[in-house]
Amino acid sequence: MLGLSGRFAVSLSVAFISVFALCEYGIYYPVILRCSWPLLENEDSQSALRVLILSDTHLLGAIRGHWLDKLRREWQMERAFQTSVWLLNPEVIFILGDIFDEGKWSSSQDWEEDVRRFKRIFRHPSHTKLVVVIGNHDVGFHHEMTKQKLERFEQAFNVASARILSVKGVNFLLVNSVALHGDRCPICQNVEEELQKLSRALNCSIQGAEDDGHCKKTSTFPPTAPILLQHYPLYRVNDAMCTGVDAAPLDERNQPFQERYDVLSKDASKKLLWWFKPRLILSGHTHSGCQILHEELYPEVSVPSFSWRNRNNPSFMLGTFSRSDFQLSKCFLPEERMVFLVYSTSCLIISFITFIHLKMFRRPLH
Ligand SMILES: [Zn+2]
Ligand SMILES: [Zn+2]
Repeated sequence: MLGLSGRFAVSLSVAFISVFALCEYGIYYPVILRCSWPLLENEDSQSALRVLILSDTHLLGAIRGHWLDKLRREWQMERAFQTSVWLLNPEVIFILGDIFDEGKWSSSQDWEEDVRRFKRIFRHPSHTKLVVVIGNHDVGFHHEMTKQKLERFEQAFNVASARILSVKGVNFLLVNSVALHGDRCPICQNVEEELQKLSRALNCSIQGAEDDGHCKKTSTFPPTAPILLQHYPLYRVNDAMCTGVDAAPLDERNQPFQERYDVLSKDASKKLLWWFKPRLILSGHTHSGCQILHEELYPEVSVPSFSWRNRNNPSFMLGTFSRSDFQLSKCFLPEERMVFLVYSTSCLIISFITFIHLKMFRRPLH
């Protein structure tokens, strides 16, 4: 049988393990349970497509970042992702680029290891489709992007630099925005040509012009304007118009964005809007939230980073889509400072109880 101090030691260990399990595992459940799929206004939301969207996971590579930082951030993302998929059961998941931090310079061996970790962290049921978009940290900024880096990314994730994915009658246009530099480099030229083909095919599908010679031999898609998904946001001057708790910090919002670095060029943005007339644009890259309307017609939502390394309050988007309508909502994950507060308060309480126990039950020394 355990003595009084033995029982106390066991209780103390149980208390510590419970706090650890709460902060590292349990906390995601009540927080994500508060989120729900948005409802469509005039349609049956049950038959609509449920899509979870996140961005900029920046899995650390072999060069940058302390191993403890890597371990902690990946654990947080894994638990947040796994809990979200389990509770919300999305049909499609999009990750809008910069899934790796060092994809742009990692060796073949490090690359294999990073891909393996990504697939473990973001594992998902076979009925859920996970689609990634190419970001500048995955293949490098335009001047660093080589054919070899692009191909290894495309092969590892079965993606292409320009394609339309149609699910339940909803068209998702996936674009490698790093290749929209507009300098007619071979990669950029290929992507632009592919986009023009897709634009023609989509317009033919929407207009139903089968007899038109112009539309012969084009692919057919559901006749509806696409949702554009890419890493870089379309051109905007700065983030001054962005509001909300996850908008860029006030002192950064007025700093002008650099074309082809922070946002797409004006030219490439105009082309995408002109060619595709998307009913929604979803982008990442800035790591902060923002909602804007381009040309008073085309709404864009910048999805903030999913990593606690980049934000105190990461989040993901929930989208309900039908052929003619969509609704979005945002789901915030536990704030880093909240977790720290739970840890420190619990440790204080446990230390206080230990102190009282030692005071009351300490045997007098002879
Ligand atoms: Zn990023
Ligand atoms: Zn980026």
